[in-house]
Amino acid sequence: MTDAVKPASKRVRLKRLNKRGAYDRASIDAILDAMPLAHVGYVFDGAPYVTPTLQWREGDHVYWHGSSASRMLRAAEDTEVCLTVSLLDGMVLARSAFHHSVNYRSVMLLGRAFKVTDPEEKAERFKGLIEALYPGRWDMLRPVKAIEVKATSVLGMKIAEGSAKVRTGPPIDDEEDNALPIWAGVVPVSMRMGKAVADSYVPAGLGPPAHVGKIRIG
Ligand SMILES: Cc1cc2nc3c(=O)[nH]c(=O)nc-3n(C[C@H](O)[C@H](O)[C@H](O)COP(=O)(O)OP(=O)(O)OC[C@H]3O[C@@H](n4cnc5c(N)ncnc54)[C@H](O)[C@@H]3O)c2cc1C
Repeated sequence: MTDAVKPASKRVRLKRLNKRGAYDRASIDAILDAMPLAHVGYVFDGAPYVTPTLQWREGDHVYWHGSSASRMLRAAEDTEVCLTVSLLDGMVLARSAFHHSVNYRSVMLLGRAFKVTDPEEKAERFKGLIEALYPGRWDMLRPVKAIEVKATSVLGMKIAEGSAKVRTGPPIDDEEDNALPIWAGVVPVSMRMGKAVADSYVPAGLGPPAHVGKIRIG
């Protein structure tokens, strides 16, 4: 998926408002990297399920993980999945109900999920997750135990067939409505980190590490 203009396949070509679409890796990666919250869609026992989870990107792959007992992880392994990531950037208020909208950035990836089975590679992926969220934290943690590696499943998917869609800007009202005395515009939406709260075991005088102040989502 290196072509900046064309979709990788017909099924990821935006039809609805296609001028909002992008297919290049830079656009897709920027959205994946901005928001760890993802939804994985898959079919289980003939019915569709969409499970919210965390994703992280390492190079040309996205990964997600969870308990080895997770139905989602067992059902999605080696099957076709659809992974989406979206960010809500603004509430768009128009002069008619019809033209209300939202500003957003989103990605849809299609492909076959694979399971990371090699224990060493799995541990590497755990590191990838921690470092994606909190750069510099891995090296200060208690080493991962073999039983923890066993208890956790990691699924991955190549970023090969996907699309980004982005809406920005003000409402687009019907021309004749712009003269109406109705307030219209955008209310920005953002996700902000709050002040870190230590748990009760943190020794007195031990403040949060630098990466805590650098967590950025959005
Ligand atoms: C936060 C948020 C709120 C939204 N609210 C609404 C709403 O209220 N009503 C509404 O109709 N739409 C909304 N959308 C847009 C919605 O996601 C779809 O793009 C839209 O409904 C068109 O769907 P479709 O199946 O007709 O797309 P099509 O253009 O037919 O989809 C074809 C292909 O285009 C790509 N594609 C489509 N949508 C997206 C997307 N959002 N991101 C990345 N790739 C995409 C996929 O690869 C898909 O397979 C919202 C999006 C976001 C992120």
